[in-house]
Amino acid sequence: MAVTLASPVTELRGIGSAKAASLAKLGVKAVGDLLRLYPRAYQNRGDVHTVAEVGEACRRSQSPPPVSLELTVSSEPKLAVIRRGMSITRFKAFDETGVVEISYFNQPFMKNVFHTGAVFRFWGRVELRGGRLTMANPVQEAVTEGTPLLPIVPVYPLASGLRQKLMQSLIREALSAANTEICDHIPPSVLRRCGLCSLSYAIKNIHFPDSIQSLDSARRRMAFDEVFTVSSAMCSAKLAKKSGGAPIIKADVSPLMKLFRFELTGAQKRCVSEILGDMSSGAPMSRILCGDVGSGKTAVAALAAYAAAASGYQCALMAPTEILAKQHYAQLSPMFFALGLGCVLLCGSLTAAEKKKIQASLSSPDAPMLVIGTHALLSEGVEFRRLGLVITDEQHRFGVNQRAALRRKSQGAHNLVMSATPIPRTLSLVIYGDLDVSRLDEMPPGRQKVSTFKVDESYRRRLLGFVRKQAQEGHRTYVVCPSIEEKPKQAEDAEELYDISFLAPEEEEPPMKAAVSYAKELSEKLPDLKIGFIHGKMKTAEKDAAMASFAAGDTDVLVSTTVIEVGVGVPEATLMVVENAERFGLSQLHQLRGRVGRGKAKSWCILVSDTENESSLRRLDVMCRENDGFKVAEEDLRLRGPGDFFSRGGEFRQHGSADMRFAAEVTDTRLTEQAVECATEVCTADPRFEKEEDLALGAVVRKMLEESEDTVS
Ligand code: ADP
Ligand code: MG
Repeated sequence: MAVTLASPVTELRGIGSAKAASLAKLGVKAVGDLLRLYPRAYQNRGDVHTVAEVGEACRRSQSPPPVSLELTVSSEPKLAVIRRGMSITRFKAFDETGVVEISYFNQPFMKNVFHTGAVFRFWGRVELRGGRLTMANPVQEAVTEGTPLLPIVPVYPLASGLRQKLMQSLIREALSAANTEICDHIPPSVLRRCGLCSLSYAIKNIHFPDSIQSLDSARRRMAFDEVFTVSSAMCSAKLAKKSGGAPIIKADVSPLMKLFRFELTGAQKRCVSEILGDMSSGAPMSRILCGDVGSGKTAVAALAAYAAAASGYQCALMAPTEILAKQHYAQLSPMFFALGLGCVLLCGSLTAAEKKKIQASLSSPDAPMLVIGTHALLSEGVEFRRLGLVITDEQHRFGVNQRAALRRKSQGAHNLVMSATPIPRTLSLVIYGDLDVSRLDEMPPGRQKVSTFKVDESYRRRLLGFVRKQAQEGHRTYVVCPSIEEKPKQAEDAEELYDISFLAPEEEEPPMKAAVSYAKELSEKLPDLKIGFIHGKMKTAEKDAAMASFAAGDTDVLVSTTVIEVGVGVPEATLMVVENAERFGLSQLHQLRGRVGRGKAKSWCILVSDTENESSLRRLDVMCRENDGFKVAEEDLRLRGPGDFFSRGGEFRQHGSADMRFAAEVTDTRLTEQAVECATEVCTADPRFEKEEDLALGAVVRKMLEESEDTVS
């Protein structure tokens, strides 16, 4: 029986249970999975150099990158035992411009591979040793008439017992099994319009590219595909959501507005009118309000809640932590009470009796109109009377189950999500494609700019002095480190040593500061200050205690990983020190910076980094220049492409099985935009994907929506 894409890999020649287990570790169970096991790098072996060129490169640089040489063996290999259990096979090979000495360690069988006069393509690093050009353990391929060698060789991720050559042959078999099975889900008209290659061409060339150009067009196609498919799914989910009915909420919000001690900013006015427009439309609102920390999202949310209350509907406002919920309650309840509207706080730390009382009140005829709380709002006994609006602050910080529960509870109500992560406009269409987006892109007047500087290790002493000075003036400092514990470097497989990637090379970066050990180090260097720490592996109660101690001023310096509460303001915090700042994405740095500058005192953000990597330096430079979150996000996208945004799955919503691996590498934002535009067009014209050319897309979209947990929130 012929092997198909659905066949288990054990049906392939040479795959027994041990190798099948290794493949399973790579996510490969069926033959078809092999097609989606993409190379992690490529070796450009078709780019053959001459010995003379390589010699020149060796004289210029200590360790030139691996190269390809086509050489004729000029001496019979000699096998020598150098030490017990250590052998070396050595011979010479040449081209018309020079000679290279080639050696293999501990591979005595190599003696039988090479013979005088045979021609091989060698791939590896050439080194100049004692005036001679040498190559140790290169990859060799025999050059024979009639069987051309691959110009570009894929490098696959491996697991134990798997070698590159085996992976290549497995993937070849999968490709030939796929020959008739690959069905393109991008409608042909879209492919034509955007100048994209077919799916089968793309898959073949991702694995075995004919040239750099064909690899490039394959990758463009895949990148477009990822964005296009997700956007189609999002768009379809959005249309489906809008089809239901929802309470009509229509009210004059000026009574609440009069209680604010300020005028709304232009952006706040715009966002409020977008929200009120949605809620009066008769269709359910699914909207996200994006705005930097401090941009005044609470006021906008309060007006939406008031509109619901004034129209006779309850509003639930849910925050990810108790601290945040309490903060909201402290801000909003006085105004609601002043307007004669009930408001309650429901969170985990209440006693059972208190909870019971509040729960009972929620469904009573004179139920409070605004209910603020944590995920306690989602628990069993909580029944709302006339829930018209659900507002979720920092939704990404709720767990999967909580979000599902929220979805059930809020069925039929309007939904507003608030996020403090500014994201570029193009990407918000991909990431929040099923939501309408309101952008709070203007800060309330009088907000101070946080002065931002980049320093290197040589400033350490002065930096410590600065931290001490802040404390002496009654101010507080955050220190953020990239990880909890130092991670050991991954050992490389010997076979992998010569990879070149077409992707940006892994950045060589200085070692990481670890929060716990760094807090200890700081306590020794600043014995007069009180140093605390907080990290993601601590229990919630421990975290809350560390945070509370910092907020109360019992701790002067809080060393943390990036878990510190995004929304909680400690107005006395005036200094944010970010260690190994090169490790953070721009948007992340911006969020960290948003934790200072919330009080009246002048605030600083110091980015500590010893990096010499140019792109890292450019990023840090953007931070020193820009204070606006949306601008920082746009710059982040421009400098690094969308990869960072797509990979921050925890922070943004995950789209089920959607993988943004190719889309993440594309720095051409036009391609992303085009994919979103095309998806929107296709979906709007054929929302049920019923046209002949949309059928395949429809199937993919439905599968994605089934697997996705977040698209219906
Ligand atoms: P966030 O968007 O981070 O939730 P908040 O809603 O907490 O921001 O607002 C931050 C601060 O700005 C609050 O103290 C709030 O009272 C104040 N504020 C909000 N809107 C305005 C405005 N239009 N003018 C002046 N201050 C404002
Ligand atoms: Mg807030």
